Amino acid sequence: MSKKIAKKAAPATPKLPPREGYFGEFGGRYVSELLIPALDELTAAWKKFSADSKFQKELQRLLNEYAGRPTLLSFAANLSAKWGAQVYLKREDLLHTGSHKINNTLGQALLASRMKKKRIIAETGAGQHGVATATAAALMQIPAHIYMGSEDLRRQALNAFRMRLLGATVSGVGGEHGTLRDAVNEALRDWARNVDDTYYLIGSAIGPHPYPTIVRTLQSVIGREARAQILKAAGRLPEAVFACVGGGSNALGIFYAFLKDKGVKLIGAEAGGRNLNPGNHAASLTAGKPGILQGALTYVLQSADGQVHNVHSVSAGLDYPGVGPEHAYLLQQGRTQYVAVRDKAALEAFKELAEEEGILPALETAHALAAAKEYVQEQRKAGRKNPLLLICLSGRGDKDVQEVERLMALPPEPEQEAVEVAPVSTAPKVKVISAG
Ligand SMILES: *Cc1c(COP(=O)(O)O)cnc(C)c1O
Repeated sequence: MSKKIAKKAAPATPKLPPREGYFGEFGGRYVSELLIPALDELTAAWKKFSADSKFQKELQRLLNEYAGRPTLLSFAANLSAKWGAQVYLKREDLLHTGSHKINNTLGQALLASRMKKKRIIAETGAGQHGVATATAAALMQIPAHIYMGSEDLRRQALNAFRMRLLGATVSGVGGEHGTLRDAVNEALRDWARNVDDTYYLIGSAIGPHPYPTIVRTLQSVIGREARAQILKAAGRLPEAVFACVGGGSNALGIFYAFLKDKGVKLIGAEAGGRNLNPGNHAASLTAGKPGILQGALTYVLQSADGQVHNVHSVSAGLDYPGVGPEHAYLLQQGRTQYVAVRDKAALEAFKELAEEEGILPALETAHALAAAKEYVQEQRKAGRKNPLLLICLSGRGDKDVQEVERLMALPPEPEQEAVEVAPVSTAPKVKVISAG
């Protein structure tokens, strides 16, 4: 699949000189003028502290002593034998709070404390970023205010309670049907009102500059560790690296260290949902178009007149109608590839990892596993055997057990076409992986 996708994704636009805050034409700061001074202040603080050895030392201490870094690289022996591959898993699931999200929230909360901010605000959809933010804010002793859509709050009552136990204030917004979009708007309004003393902590490599750069830099520890670990364990670089893509932070985090290793394929797994009709998936790079979402130019799931689509995924953490702008750029450059993985395939991968390796992955993570399995099958058809693969195990699945139980009890859905591509799109044609 690689060559074809890369060719189709080749840039149609002339090469522009790099502009600060842009990844090619993507990224930027498409926000209200009220927020520009705050983004400037954040950019300056990030430049200062990310080059400051005391800040780096303290961050490293927190990652080691509090979060549990470095995380393990596990050779998945049973899965490898079953698939006919050599599969290594980067174990972000073993971190405190259960996923890679803590790498980012610890770094940004430390930055907030160095900037002498008096409060931290964040928005959260399913609540995972809210919990990771409340955790880091408690550790830094900075009050946190988390915005959630009212409907999300109802569906994720336990996560909201977790945040409150951690000392955060949680507000439901957007009326009865409020979701992530309303939470984002409310957080932005709060920030515009309180820029002087408030730090806005964004949870993925999305949003206006400098957030995509800050979050990618904080998450790039995943790939730095994994690259050294796999060189030591396998004696060479992997043939391909897999990660799931919601906003894209764990994927960028593991991809970044391999960008210059031209022989290493970097493959992102998006949420292909039930099918690729609007409202049934969250595959922004597969089926979206360039547009502006949350302050950045990136791939967005939207109608012809720019209405943002509703999204669906079996995994709450991939349920986002956009994607980090750096992914849009890397796709355009042909450096990365993206596949859309169906709910059903993710669910099967979830069960397979549990049974073969004794690890319950997050449903988000299961998309990356399904993409890797499909890759091995394709390679085998082409006569290539036993590929060396690295998969980012972004989080653990304990949070998803109830949902998986519910899904397993449902009657089977009618069979769908195995492969579908976006009906109308300027995006390259990318393969969709179905179960079975
Ligand atoms: C939130 C989450 C994701 C998706 O976020 P990215 O920014 O795309 O990494 C993936 N996996 C897990 C376990 C998550 O909690």
